Amino acid sequence: MTSATSTGLEEFGLFIGGKTVDALSGKTFESQNPYTGKPWARLADGSPEDVDLAVASARAAFDGEWGQMSGFQRAAILRRCGDAILANAERLAQLEVNDSGKLMREMLGQLKGLPQWYWYFSGLADKLEGRTVPPINQSYFAYTTREPVGVVGAITPWNSPLLLLTFKLAPLLAAGNTCVVKPSEHAPASTVAFAEILFEAGLPAGVLNVVTGWDRSTGEALASHTGVDKVAFTGSSATGAKVAQAAVRNLNRVTLELGGKSPQIVFADADLDAAANGLVAGVFAATGQTCMAGSRLIVHADVHDALVEKVVARANAIKLGDPNDAETEMGPVANRPQYEKVLGYLEGAAAEGATFACGGEPDAERGGLFVKPTVVTGVGPDSTIVREEVFGPVLAAYTFTDEDEALKLANDTPYGLAGAVWTKDVHRAHRVAAKLRAGTVWVNAYRVVAPNMPFGGFGASGMGRENGIDALNEYTENKSVFIELTGGTRDPFQLG
Ligand code: NAD
Repeated sequence: MTSATSTGLEEFGLFIGGKTVDALSGKTFESQNPYTGKPWARLADGSPEDVDLAVASARAAFDGEWGQMSGFQRAAILRRCGDAILANAERLAQLEVNDSGKLMREMLGQLKGLPQWYWYFSGLADKLEGRTVPPINQSYFAYTTREPVGVVGAITPWNSPLLLLTFKLAPLLAAGNTCVVKPSEHAPASTVAFAEILFEAGLPAGVLNVVTGWDRSTGEALASHTGVDKVAFTGSSATGAKVAQAAVRNLNRVTLELGGKSPQIVFADADLDAAANGLVAGVFAATGQTCMAGSRLIVHADVHDALVEKVVARANAIKLGDPNDAETEMGPVANRPQYEKVLGYLEGAAAEGATFACGGEPDAERGGLFVKPTVVTGVGPDSTIVREEVFGPVLAAYTFTDEDEALKLANDTPYGLAGAVWTKDVHRAHRVAAKLRAGTVWVNAYRVVAPNMPFGGFGASGMGRENGIDALNEYTENKSVFIELTGGTRDPFQLG
């Protein structure tokens, strides 16, 4: 288990084969708390050699006890995992707050919601059925089976480490796979504690292994490992492309959950108070550091000024502060490189002639890594702030005059993760939802996910889907079996 050192830092090892171990090199790295600006934890600095051990452990578990279990047995373990997460929600949430500066009120809600994923997929673990298929001719009986892919390498980002791991882990465990996870170097602690908790709850040794590491060679080693059968990645589109290339070199399966630049289309008939609230939820919650951030406001010209005024009023009233304070609404940016990236985008927007309706600068009063909630106007479809993912509390607003133009603007992006339509016209809501090129569309809502609803992106936002029954397809192989019925022989030179 984790422990506190004489320096006051909490210590986290690697978790391999059901044991907490040091990195082979003995090296460690520190994790910074972005709110205090001070290190709070020390983690094992895993290398490619540690990844080798973790993959071997996952393979042994796959070939051993776990691989022999029935779906009913896996379902029972998954239910216990859900119970254990609920019992430890507060501790896990606190680790994520320490690492990423996200709000306790958000992370506690997220952690308390996570068990539902394990309970949902436990209900599917014993229903991985194949089919009997009408034979091509009477000489055969034919059926299919669903089999686990094998060892899955999961690579996760810093913004919601356990939620994004869970999108992979719950279905992959239900399907009988094993896993090695490499969490982000910027928010690694909760994943180690999580694996320890699931092990204590009854997940057999080696089924879930964690290798933390400061250097990107740790993730590279996992993505390119020949002992891994599938790579499941969440992170930026640029890294996703590298991970996919590494995985495909071994002809490994790969799913990618990547970045976004999601549109919120607001028609003139929309409830503007509700839309303003949805815009705040979409881009200022979690300090805008969510893949599904609704960072483009595409608003009918007639209501642009009225809506921007409402959003600005709410943005200016957002309480920035200590992530552990229940009153706080927005915490700091999660780490210095990300903070600098956000400020770089704000400087770039100003240089391109944009106007800041609010924000546009660091919160000098607070210092640290705080950036003021920002609404940018005076931009168009070609502005950099409209085209590129900022991953911070920055909303870019521009206008349309008819439905076709709204859709054209919304779909004018390499991304396609999510989007929202705000209108009271039910006909238009359906028309626009159908034509938005995005994996998730909300109508008069924003930022809702559920274990039973598929999640993933079009275009540069990714490949494959997480959540929902179909997620099991990402973690199973379909096998076709032909049984010869007649006992006779046939022309060996003819197919079928
Ligand atoms: P990132 O791409 O920098 O890193 C993601 C993970 O990949 C980290 O664990 C990192 O150590 C690892 N990594 C880095 N280089 C690697 C390499 N060459 N090979 C293998 N692994 C490597 O992303 P980030 O900054 O941690 O997260 C922010 C990004 O994640 C944003 O673009 C955001 O939109 C995206 N994201 C997407 C989703 C989704 O579900 N679509 C969810 C959350 C975040």
